[in-house]
Amino acid sequence: MAKEDYYKLLGVNREASDSELKKAYRKAAMKYHPDRNPGDKGAEEKFKAVSEAYEVLSDNKKRQIYDQLGHDGLSGQGYSGPGNAEDIFSSFGSIFEDFFGFNQGGSQRQQRARKGTDLRYDLTISFKEAVFGTEKKIKFRRRVQCKACDGRGARPGSVPQTCPTCQGAGQVRRTQGFFSVSMTCPTCKGSGTIIRDEDICKSCNGEGITLETREMNVKVPAGVDSGLKLRLSSEGEAGTFGGPSGDLYVVLNVEEDRKFIRDDLNILVHKELSFVQLALGCKIEVETLEGMENIDIPAGTQHGDHIKLKQKGVPNLRSRTNRGDFLVEVRANIPKRLNKEQRETLVNFAKLSNIPVEKDKAGTGSFFQKIFE
Ligand SMILES: [Zn+2]
Ligand SMILES: [Zn+2]
Repeated sequence: MAKEDYYKLLGVNREASDSELKKAYRKAAMKYHPDRNPGDKGAEEKFKAVSEAYEVLSDNKKRQIYDQLGHDGLSGQGYSGPGNAEDIFSSFGSIFEDFFGFNQGGSQRQQRARKGTDLRYDLTISFKEAVFGTEKKIKFRRRVQCKACDGRGARPGSVPQTCPTCQGAGQVRRTQGFFSVSMTCPTCKGSGTIIRDEDICKSCNGEGITLETREMNVKVPAGVDSGLKLRLSSEGEAGTFGGPSGDLYVVLNVEEDRKFIRDDLNILVHKELSFVQLALGCKIEVETLEGMENIDIPAGTQHGDHIKLKQKGVPNLRSRTNRGDFLVEVRANIPKRLNKEQRETLVNFAKLSNIPVEKDKAGTGSFFQKIFE
């Protein structure tokens, strides 16, 4: 499915500055926010789409990849965007609080453990790899907890300072018109503590998260097909505040084969044989998934008949012991030209079988002869 252009979604031009992006996103997110449009699926979809656009464009690295390679470039990096509204809030929590003063779960919200984002990786494999299984090396980027500071964002051994804005409460009150709204403290993001500049972890710039390139082997079982998702648990992005990692979904795409046609668990090939071979029966060699195989064509085989090689098809992903069949669909080849001797032999055959063929013998003049005589 073609995804909409991120810039278009946010209604900004390609040169938009960070603050223009933020402004545009704020406007769109306000409009489509699920809390403002309860039960409206369309608004929710729109909200996800603009959030995804903002997540990418507000990140310089992702924006660069997107500008150069578009959506494909991002999925090639293993980036799939946030999966649901919950994910969006987990990655945008602080933005929403800044923007709207949404208070999602009180002052401890920032500290609450959250599962990391799931990732998607699209993997293309060959026809035979899908049938017999394979092992593939994949490489992708993901956010992981900073190893230097264990995700705290502060230099090991440093002591967090009480936040001067909220005095450690994690919440501040702001008066808006008639209302006084309690909102998450913008300085400490609700944690009640801050890290002094000199204590900020140098590896992650205080984010607690670093990007790593992950290389791993993926076992693809025998009998898979296009569209199948392999779930690799905990191989997604790191959770925050001690939450579990997200999962990695490897989505398979199976290439077509020039010789073999797959129909679920069965494999079909076409084999052209002379009508004489079909009439008399013969032995032929057919290429199967596992190499050449001799098969018997019984006398009297018809054009379109299937010769079945049992259990030579695709292994059943679930039952393991069962395999589909390998089907050879026979097609009759009729000679376009005959030499004199061949022709006489066939005429003879026709005579013996009482099949009317030749105009002079059987008395059925051809259509053209009738016109020109
Ligand atoms: Zn760190
Ligand atoms: Zn604070």
